[in-house]
Amino acid sequence: MAFVSRLNSLGKVSSVKSPQISQRALTRFCHQYYPFSLRKISRRLVALVFVVLSLIFSLESARAQDRPQLSAIDRTRLAEAFRLGARIGDQIWPDWSKAPFAVLLVTAEHEFLIRHPKPSADFNSLGYDPSLKSDVYYRKRHFLTHFLATFPAISGSMISTIVVGQAENTTARTSTRWVITLLHEHFHQLQDSQPSYYTDANALNLSRGDQTGMWMLNYAFPYERTDVQQQFSAMSQLLAAAVQPRSLPRAERAKRARAYLEARRKFQQLLPSDDYKYFSFQFWKEGIARYTEYQVARLAAKYRPTKEFRALKDCRSFAEVGKSMYEEIFRELLTQKLGESKREVVYAFGAAEGLLLDEINPRWRSRYFEEKFDLWKLFP
Ligand SMILES: [Zn+2]
Repeated sequence: MAFVSRLNSLGKVSSVKSPQISQRALTRFCHQYYPFSLRKISRRLVALVFVVLSLIFSLESARAQDRPQLSAIDRTRLAEAFRLGARIGDQIWPDWSKAPFAVLLVTAEHEFLIRHPKPSADFNSLGYDPSLKSDVYYRKRHFLTHFLATFPAISGSMISTIVVGQAENTTARTSTRWVITLLHEHFHQLQDSQPSYYTDANALNLSRGDQTGMWMLNYAFPYERTDVQQQFSAMSQLLAAAVQPRSLPRAERAKRARAYLEARRKFQQLLPSDDYKYFSFQFWKEGIARYTEYQVARLAAKYRPTKEFRALKDCRSFAEVGKSMYEEIFRELLTQKLGESKREVVYAFGAAEGLLLDEINPRWRSRYFEEKFDLWKLFP
């Protein structure tokens, strides 16, 4: 207050006519009544403003630190999946790049939503991320950290969204395999975005009152029937024999394909119509998603990842991953047991059917989305 009243009296001094006198009076006043010169006062003021501003900035940055951030490794993996999908997706499936690529990444504390056009109100924005070419949103975690599925996961929107845990928490484990897995899920987004996908899936009449879509996992298929198990095993052996030995003469390969198709027909005859429809749906949906995963890895052998992705400690070449995926498909096909693995058998089986279709009907992919949900219709 004393400082303010002195400044008021200073105002009176400066109201005298001569500015020179005024200046002198001002200096005298300062020497007489105040221990600092005006220059010192302004230095003090600047210092004070500086301290206040620093405080404001540090509060702001503390608030920014409170907001969760995508880790650098998650961002690099996601960016690589988007980039790879954009580079090679349409070579495998026409217009795949037009399908949504919305992802909900599940981390220990939070979930991050990327490339989703309509986040629900429980999400907060983190702004635009140029490396992901998307706005990023976050919320507290809802899903399990190892979750992996694709469905309209964001309330209020029918956009099919990939819900996926971080690589270390999912079965993919490592970066390269996780990127390929993300493209498996992205293929489900292409399936789901077909104009009549949900109507046609409902028309199968397999849900038996279930409204959640869980029937796709829990349908009561007769896994325990010995005759069905034996026929599944026999046709799996014949399928592997029809696809794998590429060096065989054409006539021998055609003979093997016929033997396989005959075994598949028998498998169909063993099953009630709904049970057959269910397995056909699974071969169509999950088997071809596994086939697509392999095709992505195969084509990516000629693709050069970003230097950030190549620098990741667990980065493996796509060529190497593609080779091991091919081996896995056939190892599973030859060893898996319907009574033990149950629905899981459809992945390798459907993938191998896709590979056989490549040989005996190379244009099958152009009719795939029309012939929902039965690969049998695509065999010549
Ligand atoms: Zn899948």
